[in-house]
Amino acid sequence: MKELEDKLHKYLSENASENDYEAWLANVRISDIDDKQIILTVPNQAIKDWIEDKLFPILLEGIRNVTDSDRRIQLNALKSAEEVPDKINIYKSPDEFEVDRSLLIKRYTFDNFVVGKSNQLAHAAAVAVAKHSGQHYNPLFIYGASGLGKTHLMQAIGNYIKRNDPSKKVGYMYTEMFMNEKVDAIKTNSTLAFRNRFRNLDVLLLDDIHWLEKSPSLQEEIFHTFDALYHANKQIVLTADRLPREIPKLQERLVSRFQWGLVVDIQEPDFETRLAILRKKVESENIQISDEILNYISNNIKGNVRMLEGALLKMLAMATLTKRKMDVKLAREVILGFSDIGSTDNERRINITADEIIDVVSQYYKVPVEQIMGRKRSSSIVLPRHICIFLIRKYSDLSLKEIAEKMNRKDHSTIIHSVNKIEKMIVSRSKIDEDIQRITGLLNVE
Ligand code: ADP
Ligand code: MG
Repeated sequence: MKELEDKLHKYLSENASENDYEAWLANVRISDIDDKQIILTVPNQAIKDWIEDKLFPILLEGIRNVTDSDRRIQLNALKSAEEVPDKINIYKSPDEFEVDRSLLIKRYTFDNFVVGKSNQLAHAAAVAVAKHSGQHYNPLFIYGASGLGKTHLMQAIGNYIKRNDPSKKVGYMYTEMFMNEKVDAIKTNSTLAFRNRFRNLDVLLLDDIHWLEKSPSLQEEIFHTFDALYHANKQIVLTADRLPREIPKLQERLVSRFQWGLVVDIQEPDFETRLAILRKKVESENIQISDEILNYISNNIKGNVRMLEGALLKMLAMATLTKRKMDVKLAREVILGFSDIGSTDNERRINITADEIIDVVSQYYKVPVEQIMGRKRSSSIVLPRHICIFLIRKYSDLSLKEIAEKMNRKDHSTIIHSVNKIEKMIVSRSKIDEDIQRITGLLNVE
């Protein structure tokens, strides 16, 4: 946990503004983590409120970047609200505070974004919007599955505009946060200020708009904000995981407005793009890693750039923590920890040893090698054993007799029996086919 915390802090200190980090984020501790959630603690309620209110996106990005999957985040305060540290007044004036409120994350730039077939159009549209905001493509609506770069592109637009003209008011928000701010504004009788804050923006970046499904009252608010900005020629950029008309319960007038400008999608990256993304990451983080491993990771993790990057970072962490070599074996272990693994489609290998196969099958089914090689005949062991034999037969140069020796079996007829068994299972379309595809994917063979 300490290592994870260190990584999180490294990320936050590099990506948040110095003020935000020193005053708020530096206080965050990881107190617990499991598959479903991560529990963070901060010293008091004031810090908690502030982070939830203003710094949640960067914290979320940080966590997504240092862990391998999406988890629910729970933020706890150790003490009650009264005890507020002096640090809370670190912002010297309201103006200074406003500047930092755009919630833009520095790391998300066009320079850091790898363009490939899957995201070409979305990228071109985003660049056009950044260069001529409010003039073309309004709104720009980017949609696609999770982890494909929507937030990155959207933030890149904001960063670009801000860099060229710091006086521009750029506002980034998760739709969910927009909702929370609105609820707060109602509670504190400040809805007018809330409205003005959004309606005075030059650029509104509203992320994950599909969340609107959950809130009819927020749709009303967005509708008016949209019209106010649109008619003042202010730029609006929206993202969602699907097309406007596919978002359930979205009012027709919003569906139509969201399509007034340009609607572009981001697809899953192909092998070349995945590899290029990893290369870029390696370059920017100064990581020493061989092409073979980058190929291997790109081959085995598809359809989600966040996971692709996650695998690389996890490997790096494991290599550093356990002082292991960054080799294919380690990559395989890391990837086994990810659920979204599939068959390979590129750069396949031909030579593979029986030991490698046994090793991977053992890890895949979580059955120790000794048991696979042993005598026990329970089905949870027999299946991996058959699969080992089947794959060794298919991919290695060993003869039947040699395979029997290697696997501790009596003679070549046991080997033939195993191979037949698996072939029959494949023909009968049991789940086995999928298992074998994944295992061969991990072995990087066809
Ligand atoms: P989404 O918003 O679509 O769920 P994100 O924008 O959060 O996805 O992207 C997930 C991670 O993948 C981020 O760290 C982002 O920088 C990275 N990423 C996605 N696409 C690319 C790309 N084409 N080039 C470089 N990094 C990318
Ligand atoms: Mg996103």
